Amino acid sequence: MVAQVIDGKAFAANVRGQVGAHVAKLKEEQGITPGLAVVLVGEDPASQVYVRSKGKMTVEVGMNSYEHKLDVDTAEDVLLALIDKLNNDPAVHGILVQLPLPKHLNEDLVINSIDPAKDVDGFHISNVGLLGTGQKSMVPCTPLGCLMMLRDHHGSLSGLNAVVVGRSNIVGKPMAQLLLGDSCTVTIAHSRTKDLPDVVRAADIVVAAVGRPEMLPGDWIKEGATVIDVGINRIDAPEKGEGKTRLVGDVHYESAAAVAGAITPVPGGVGPMTIACLLANTLTACCRANGLAEPE
Ligand code: NDP
Repeated sequence: MVAQVIDGKAFAANVRGQVGAHVAKLKEEQGITPGLAVVLVGEDPASQVYVRSKGKMTVEVGMNSYEHKLDVDTAEDVLLALIDKLNNDPAVHGILVQLPLPKHLNEDLVINSIDPAKDVDGFHISNVGLLGTGQKSMVPCTPLGCLMMLRDHHGSLSGLNAVVVGRSNIVGKPMAQLLLGDSCTVTIAHSRTKDLPDVVRAADIVVAAVGRPEMLPGDWIKEGATVIDVGINRIDAPEKGEGKTRLVGDVHYESAAAVAGAITPVPGGVGPMTIACLLANTLTACCRANGLAEPE
């Protein structure tokens, strides 16, 4: 079997197109422009790249983008004061604090200081609780993007065996909640899981969110399974020249694509969907704040 490639880049472009159309309508009919504030503390190179592309795409869909760049040694009370200001700013509908934060800042405290209604990353404890109890919430962007691609590919996910490898608060756990919400039978695997290859082999849907380059080989994948590779790992690529690198996922793509029914590539799979879902969440937050019908 040769897997169908799930084109996250095209899917994301489509989502952004729909968000853009809705934003244009909001502006024209209501005179409202959704606004997303992104807060970056420090100069982590990867975070800078993410923040830049988030800002660019926010503007491209017609929203207002507010970027706040703070020094690496910013005091916690200064950051909390900025979040308080954004919480009370009616032009700001979504607030994202780029993670990871420098070590001296308490990540939980900072995230939980964001107004849950503006928490477009879905990491606030209230949103985590709402998601876990099946109530309307802000859903974390990366798992939401994975779910959208899975629904698009399968139609109904009901009754399918899903294995999520990784149990982080930002990917693994919310992914498992979403799959459970769609009536999958869900297993969450992690670094202490016994017989991981056999656990993964039982899955109709595999979501890999481990952070280890090409850890899941093709012989762990059940024939015809759908593989969603969340991992983004930069590895040396001497074949491209001295000092060159390339991005790979947590799944060994070539061997997995030979047995899977469908697979997301890295890059061009989950990554682009994450930003598209951030924009969709900002639009949703804006509609809710103004008592308007939410986008589908
Ligand atoms: P974390 O490091 O927070 O979590 C990794 C998880 O993998 C942990 O639960 C850990 O288990 C588990 N794990 C580690 N080693 C093994 C192993 N040998 N066998 C089984 N499980 C293992 O990572 P994140 O969830 O934040 O991110 C995961 C990956 O996804 C990364 O590559 C990251 O770059 C990428 N990512 C991509 C995004 C995108 O937009 N595409 C967005 C966010 C992340 P334990 O809990 O036991 O330690």
